Amino acid sequence: MTLMAEMTWPEFRSRVVEGGAVVLLPVGATEQHGPHLPLGVDAFQVTEVCRRIAARIGGVVAPTLPYGYKSQIKTGGGNHFPGTTSLKGETLIALVRDILTDLGRHGARRLAVIDGHYENGWFLTEACDLASRDLRAEGHGEAKIVKMIFAADISEKTLAHIYPDGYPGLDLEHAAKLETSMMLAIRPDLVHRDRIPDVGPAKFPPHERFPPDTGLAPASGVLAPVGNASSEIGECLIAEFVDLVCRSLAEGFDDPLLAQSPQ
Ligand code: ZN
Ligand code: MN
Repeated sequence: MTLMAEMTWPEFRSRVVEGGAVVLLPVGATEQHGPHLPLGVDAFQVTEVCRRIAARIGGVVAPTLPYGYKSQIKTGGGNHFPGTTSLKGETLIALVRDILTDLGRHGARRLAVIDGHYENGWFLTEACDLASRDLRAEGHGEAKIVKMIFAADISEKTLAHIYPDGYPGLDLEHAAKLETSMMLAIRPDLVHRDRIPDVGPAKFPPHERFPPDTGLAPASGVLAPVGNASSEIGECLIAEFVDLVCRSLAEGFDDPLLAQSPQ
């Protein structure tokens, strides 16, 4: 059992408080992902990655936060696409700070905030820092928090396999080959292959404007080519991200056991 929402409180106590299990908090977004993918992509992906990590390391997955910071034109198409429903930075900080602080008060000593939406980055950093200060001030200084975006790195070998013509970069990988492939692996029923647009990589100026210049966003909301996206590519990426996060947790929590490969 890995999902906190499915556990009773005595089960949570024995796994997390007595057993010291890592508690993973997946943070996603509700955001446009082109005409072919659903609004929940970032939440679906980060939840699945966290479930697989938890299954491997005996961790517990806290309920996913399905909203995130405002979609930006240059990294997510922008907040003007219908259905893209976002939090203010201060709201996201406050939510995650409260969740982490409460988990720590209950005795969780290893908390992992796993980000599935590029724009969340610094707000999650702030939430982790404030929660860590709260916990120390309240006498729970033994609680450690590790925070990362799950797609932080892709190995040269996998990049060469998936992007023979070059990797557009994580900021442009929005609703494109990476996310379409991961969704084909996770929820193929939600991928509309017949609606995949034929687009090149988006080009943006170095600045941002407020109110946003929505004309800069590709009309489809897809920021880079989808190309030959496939469930096989998706599985390959998911396996790599699970390995990457497990290695990071092992380092972050000084526990080499967390990086052990599955038996
Ligand atoms: Zn996404
Ligand atoms: Mn996103």
